[in-house]
Amino acid sequence: MSKVLVMDQNLANKIAAGEVVEKVVSVVKELVENSIDAEATDIKIELVDSGVKEIVVTDNGVGMDKEDAVLCFSRHATSKLKTLDDLFNIDSLGFRGEALPSIASVSNTILQTSNGKKGTEVEVNGGNIENVRHLDLPQGTKIRVKNLFYNTPVRLKYLKNLYVELANVVEYISKMALSYPSIRFNLLNNGKSILYSDGSGNLLKAISRVHGIDVAKKMIPISGDNEDYKIEGYISYPEKARSNRSSITTFVNNRLIKNNELNKIITDCYHTYIPATKYPIVVINIEVDPILIDINIHPTKMDIKFSKIDSLKELLSNLIITQLESRNLIPEIEIDDNTQNKSIELIAQEMNNDKVPVEKEYETLEEVTLDFDVKEEPMDLNDAISSIEIIPVAEEKEEVVEKTNRIKKMYPVGLVHGTYIVAENEDGMYLIDQHAAAERINYEKYLKKMGTHDNHMQDLLIPLKIELSSQEYLILKEKMDKLIELNFEVEDFGINTIIIRSHPYWLPEHALEEAIRKMIDIIISEKEFDPYKFTEKVAITLACKMSIKANDHIELPAMEDLLERLRNTDNPFTCPHGRPTIITYSKYELEKLFMRSMEK
Ligand code: ZN
Ligand code: ZN
Repeated sequence: MSKVLVMDQNLANKIAAGEVVEKVVSVVKELVENSIDAEATDIKIELVDSGVKEIVVTDNGVGMDKEDAVLCFSRHATSKLKTLDDLFNIDSLGFRGEALPSIASVSNTILQTSNGKKGTEVEVNGGNIENVRHLDLPQGTKIRVKNLFYNTPVRLKYLKNLYVELANVVEYISKMALSYPSIRFNLLNNGKSILYSDGSGNLLKAISRVHGIDVAKKMIPISGDNEDYKIEGYISYPEKARSNRSSITTFVNNRLIKNNELNKIITDCYHTYIPATKYPIVVINIEVDPILIDINIHPTKMDIKFSKIDSLKELLSNLIITQLESRNLIPEIEIDDNTQNKSIELIAQEMNNDKVPVEKEYETLEEVTLDFDVKEEPMDLNDAISSIEIIPVAEEKEEVVEKTNRIKKMYPVGLVHGTYIVAENEDGMYLIDQHAAAERINYEKYLKKMGTHDNHMQDLLIPLKIELSSQEYLILKEKMDKLIELNFEVEDFGINTIIIRSHPYWLPEHALEEAIRKMIDIIISEKEFDPYKFTEKVAITLACKMSIKANDHIELPAMEDLLERLRNTDNPFTCPHGRPTIITYSKYELEKLFMRSMEK
C-alpha cells in the first residue's frame, strides 16, 4: 500500500484554514520538516537570492517510490497522520500535507527522489504535473522550488525584502539545528555558507554554531523534573543577553513552540540580572504528558497551553534561579583574538540593520546581491568547540559557590573618572561602577524593609506639607489608602495639599521630601495597583535617588565599605536596572595583554 494516506477531510479543512505559503521561510519549513520526517541525518538548504529565485533542499532520508512521488503533489494527501489526535503524539513534524501541493502550484518545482532502489523525477509547473521519469539517483530527496509566486504577482509583492526573507530562514534553521543536534544542517545563500551544524548530537556544539563560541562558553546546563514536567537544556550567563526575544528557544516534547507564558517565566528569572529590554539565551526542552497540554494549531506558528502552568513555573524558575544565585557572574574582559567567530545571530542582525528598500520588485532583485561576510566554514571552529568544557550537571558542585560572598574580597586602590572604583585581589583587577554598586545595596535594603510589614513609624516633629498639582491631588485622594498601607500617617489638608505626620522608619531622613514625592509619583502613575510591582518600583527609584552618583569622590575607606556591602548582597553583579556593577580583567588576561610571557 502507498505510504501516503489520504487525509481525513476534517483535518484537511482545519489545516487548510490557515494560509500556508506566504514567505520563503514557510516553503523552507515545509521542505525541511518533510526531510526530518523522512529520517534524514543530513539536510542541505541552498537558496538563490534569499530563496526568492530558488530554494533547493537535499536530504539523505528514506526517499519515495514513484507512486508517492506523484501522489505527494495532490491535494489532501499526507503520509504523516490520519487524525487530529495524532498531531502531538507522533514524532512527525509536518502536519500540513497541504503545503507541498500549495508550493508546487505557485512555482516551478522539480522533485528528485529515490528509495534506494529506483529514482524518480517529477516536474510540476504552476501545479500541473508535466513530466515524470525514472532517473538513477542516490537514496534521498531533492526538491528544487524555482520562481516562487511567479504566477501570482500579488503574493510576490508581499514578500519582504531579501534581508528579511533570509533572516527568517536563518532564524528557522537555527532553531532546527538546536532542536535536532543529531542532524547536520547546511544553509547556503548564493553559494555562501551561512549556518552549518555538524550533526554530532551535542547540543552545546549546536549552540556554538548558532550563537557563537563565546556564548557557548557562557551557557549553564540545567536539568530537573517534578511529577508533571521534565526539563533539560542550557541557560546563558546574564552578560550574554540579547536584544531579540528569539534568543529564547523552547521545545515541548522536542517540538519547537512559542509560548508567551513560558517566555515570561524565563525572563522573570533574569529580572534585574539583565536590563528589561534584553533577553537571555535559553535552549530548553520540556517533556510532558500530552494530556497536560492543549494545542492551538496554526500552520505557521506553534503555540500550546499548559494546563499545569504553576507546576511548570515552580520547576523552571527553581532550576534557573538556583544557577544564577550560585555563580560568579562577573563579566570577564577577554581580548578577542579570533574575530572570525561572528555568530549567525549577529550576521542576521547586521543584515536587518542594513537599509534596503522594502518594496523591491521581482525584476530588480537580481541587482541586489547579498554580501554579508561569512567566513569560510568550518574554520577552526572545531578546535575552539572542543575547548568548551561540557560538564554534566551533577559534577558541577565545585563551581557552585556559597550564596554569601559569591565574590572574593576585593581591595580598592583608587577611583577613575570619579565613577569607577579600581580594586584588586589575587585573581585579577576589578572595575566597579560606584553608583550601580550602591544602587544594588540600597535596592535590596528597601525591598527587604518594605516587605517586612514592620509598622515602625517615625513621627515628624514638624509635619511635612506636600503641595501637588490639582490633577495629582485629585488622583492621590482616591488612592490615599495606599499611603496608609505603607505606614504613612497622612491627612488631607485641602487646597491641593496633604500633610504627612509620620512615615515608615526606613525612609532616608536627609532626603525625606524627595523620597515621599517619588513614592507619590509612582502611586499616581500606577494604573492597576499591583503591590509587588509597586514595591519593586519604589525600591528601584529610591535606590537610584539615594545612591552616590558618578563624580561623587569617595575616599578609600568608603570604597572598602561599599565593596564589602556589595559582596554581601543577594546579587552583587548587576544594579536593579540590570546594568553590570563589576567587570574584571583576570590576572591571566592582563599578562596576555602585556605579553608578559615573552620575557619568561
Ligand atoms: Zn541609578
Ligand atoms: Zn541602575
